Amino acid sequence: MSTSKRTSLELFRLKKTLDTLARKEGRGTELVSLYVPPGKQISEVMNMLRDEYGTASNIKSTTTRKNVQDAIVKVQQRLKLFKETPENGLVIFCGAIPQNGAGSERIETYVIIPPEPIHIYLYRCDSRFHTEHLQELLREKETYGILLIDASAATLATLQGRRLEIVRQISSGVPGKTRAGGQSARRYERLREMRLQEYFRRLGEHANETFLTIENLKGLIIAGPGPTKFDFEKGDYLNYMLKEKVIDVIDTAYVDEQGVKEVVDKAPEIMRKIRYIEEKQVMQQFLYEIGHDTGMATYGEEEVRRALEAGAVRTLLLSEGIDIVRVKVKCNACGYEEQETMKNQMLTNFEQSLSGKPCPKCKAPSLAIAETQELIENFAQMAEYTNTEVEIISGETEEGQMLKNSFGGIAAILRFNLQRK
Ligand SMILES: [Zn+2]
Repeated sequence: MSTSKRTSLELFRLKKTLDTLARKEGRGTELVSLYVPPGKQISEVMNMLRDEYGTASNIKSTTTRKNVQDAIVKVQQRLKLFKETPENGLVIFCGAIPQNGAGSERIETYVIIPPEPIHIYLYRCDSRFHTEHLQELLREKETYGILLIDASAATLATLQGRRLEIVRQISSGVPGKTRAGGQSARRYERLREMRLQEYFRRLGEHANETFLTIENLKGLIIAGPGPTKFDFEKGDYLNYMLKEKVIDVIDTAYVDEQGVKEVVDKAPEIMRKIRYIEEKQVMQQFLYEIGHDTGMATYGEEEVRRALEAGAVRTLLLSEGIDIVRVKVKCNACGYEEQETMKNQMLTNFEQSLSGKPCPKCKAPSLAIAETQELIENFAQMAEYTNTEVEIISGETEEGQMLKNSFGGIAAILRFNLQRK
């Protein structure tokens, strides 16, 4: 459980870094992306880079040539720090990024150790960083089960990231709705019903066998044309543990591979929905504690900070959208320090307001920003020290909006009541 909770923070961090990197643009084709999969020899990659350095000497533009070659050298330097490729592989982004208009380029280097093994060996020099392979990886963690059913046949499949596997296809053996001439309608209906029950039971057993053994099954999607899928889902055919994992019952036109593809097309939407359900659940728990005044929840920057420092927070809830920074101001004359919290866009104004302002301690006009940290990161770090679960809550649900708008984007479910000592 706690690993999956941690994940929301880890993924959030990586996602954020990748979003930032994806937005960066080079002046020309001069940004280097390097993916090294596990098992690849560093020496082999170094040789490849040496060749690329040579090839780059043919670039006509002096600036581009210099920037590309500089980037390659930087990548080589970083790579040299690794004796061998880490077990999940290694990704390096490096290149000259304009800081403030043309001519202000500075080489930026990012080394990322992926949270999961990467399976791609790639060197690209482009006007942007190729972050998409890592972004894909973020989506590839969880496995979903897919069960397609109608009265004639069923298909069981698994979906991990984009890897789709058809595990089993069975036919129902249930006769069609129209009977052959000469049979009694009642008798025929009874026979059909019996066959259908038998088919549901058989399918249930196959589904239990297939899906219950999957370690990280995130959810089960039931699909198919017509109402049969609902009858199957409502009945007692699936193991209760599997039943709890049913996240959606959706319509498809087909019940075979074609139907599986239909589900996969809708999968991103379904997966987002699951995350929203999780977010709603944790938010509703928070709202319950607040609503019933149990003393087991708190919110607001200062209150939550205090609770975290007391080691009292079980689950920390942070709005994805809070754009607030924590700023450390330091006096360069006497070493006096203070912390301030403000909206990101206020930062420039605040910095300007410091110039000439006397230090509260020594009165020298020597105050300056020593450090800035995003509030989310600041809280996430405190949470890590106290082994607190962190949930990054999107603004996509009503509850998520409420967290952001009514509770300042920061809330906590507590381990113990802080007031009642
Ligand atoms: Zn001072």
